[in-house]
Amino acid sequence: MIKEQLIKEIKKLKIIEKPIGIQIPEGLKQYSEIILELFKENEPILFVDPCYGACDSKDKVAKDLGCKLLVHFGHYKMNIPVIETIYIPISYELSKTELDFIVSEIKKLKLNKINLVTTIQYLENIKTIIELLLKENIIVVESKESLRVKKHMILGCDASTIINQTEPIIFIGDGVFHANNLGFINNGQDVIVISPISKSVQKIEITDTFLRKRYAAIGICKHANKFGILVSTKQGQIRLAIARNIKKKLEENGKKAYILVSDYVKQEYLEGIKVDCYVNTACPRLVYDDGTIAFKKPVISVTEVDLLFDEDKELKVDQITSDI
Ligand code: SF4
Repeated sequence: MIKEQLIKEIKKLKIIEKPIGIQIPEGLKQYSEIILELFKENEPILFVDPCYGACDSKDKVAKDLGCKLLVHFGHYKMNIPVIETIYIPISYELSKTELDFIVSEIKKLKLNKINLVTTIQYLENIKTIIELLLKENIIVVESKESLRVKKHMILGCDASTIINQTEPIIFIGDGVFHANNLGFINNGQDVIVISPISKSVQKIEITDTFLRKRYAAIGICKHANKFGILVSTKQGQIRLAIARNIKKKLEENGKKAYILVSDYVKQEYLEGIKVDCYVNTACPRLVYDDGTIAFKKPVISVTEVDLLFDEDKELKVDQITSDI
């Protein structure tokens, strides 16, 4: 089904530019040959390094390589690209059975009002779901659009689309990567995941273990002397100004701090650099999902730096919103 949709979307394009760059998420790599064949008149080059989000557009590199245009699959625009870029989100069209499942599961929750969010994958179905829910007297509250996210859409690091902080949050999607971010933010709202594919319903509970791990890392970093501040060059992740502010703050408090830059932020690139711990300004999920296993030294997030010097500060989860 994705394959047919992909072909349909490509055939709709009337691209005359050449050469062009093509960027696809991991899930579409299996269709690389089909995509390259469909674009063969445009002298395509395919970027094969992993692309996990719209934060990772290759428009700058494509320009450096002489491309006249970039076709980016799987995401919406997040940044202003430096060359003409066509975004092809590829949304999954839910069947009547899948839509009915979603509505009947929401009905079972006996709620009158809800926040409704999803990922780019199901976003095109949201309007239909809202209409179906309205027929059941269930109101979906208003949601906000920004430069990074459309209404009712969330990223693994950006739930700013949710403006109502009282009604429960229903997330339509698969897995817990995006839903966990809603739980981490923890506004005290229930977060319920409804997966139309696996036909499952799950309430997201962020256990004390998450908080314990965060406070443990902050506790160790308090006594550290040398900090590496990690900065990614990915366009939707780069937060150099924030990194500089953090460096200043650390130095004002008697610490040494160095800004360490890479495209992917990975432990193997940090081998041999003699710092005691890291502050991550790149994808926030590197800290929350992998922090204790992905890095050999303690790593804290941007929002945790203040807690090193002021125990009364509230622990907040790092988000990359349009304000960066
Ligand atoms: S920064 Fe991380 S969580 Fe945010 S969009 Fe990029 S990959 Fe996803």
